[in-house]
Amino acid sequence: MLKQKNLIFVGAPGAGKGTFSALLLEKHPLVHISTGDLLRDEIKRGTALGQEASGLMKEGKLVPDEVVAGMVRSRLSQPDCDNGFILDGFPRTIRQAELLDAALQELDRPLDRVVYFKVDDEVILQRLTARQNCRKCGAIFNKLFMPSRQEGICDNCGGELYQRPDDSLETAKARLGVFYQQTSPLIEYYGDKGVLLEITETDKDEICRILDRELA
Ligand code: AMP
Repeated sequence: MLKQKNLIFVGAPGAGKGTFSALLLEKHPLVHISTGDLLRDEIKRGTALGQEASGLMKEGKLVPDEVVAGMVRSRLSQPDCDNGFILDGFPRTIRQAELLDAALQELDRPLDRVVYFKVDDEVILQRLTARQNCRKCGAIFNKLFMPSRQEGICDNCGGELYQRPDDSLETAKARLGVFYQQTSPLIEYYGDKGVLLEITETDKDEICRILDRELA
């Protein structure tokens, strides 16, 4: 059992952060904090924050650091995070990492590991453009690599599967560019702190074994 581990998952969009978060959550009592999901929820609820984020997300650009960091800080201050957490898709810039460092120190939640999923660009683009998400429960499928049993229907809850608008080829390419420009410096940042675990493997079962072994 993975107790009270405080983890960050870093990787280009489509590298597997969400998929492996879901797999870890089946076995461990961690809280999953995806800033993409939090922002999509703000948009759905029509909040001021959602309205600010919506246009940027459509173009594959990042939402301002302070806005996202504030959202994460408030989620991390909830008592259920005492069980440990996975930050999926946050931080995405050095500034966000610095704001996170300050928040974690203040909340007395030390970071255990930063897992970097390193995947080739061609694979990323293939995966993103074939990705499908469940409208109801958020489960992730892939038409090419992890298809649902029945086309267009979620295996878990029967909900409708859809393609995120920012998973179109054009926006996926823009998001990949943003990853290299703004997010990849985090690899060195966390490498220097001695908490980085780099995963270059692409086989799903093998990645699960690595995570189980390293995070036990
Ligand atoms: P994701 O679901 O993680 O792929 O995120 C979808 C979109 O939400 C990104 O392309 C950004 O526009 C926005 N977003 C998610 N997380 C962050 C973050 N940490 N910083 C800034 N923008 C973010």
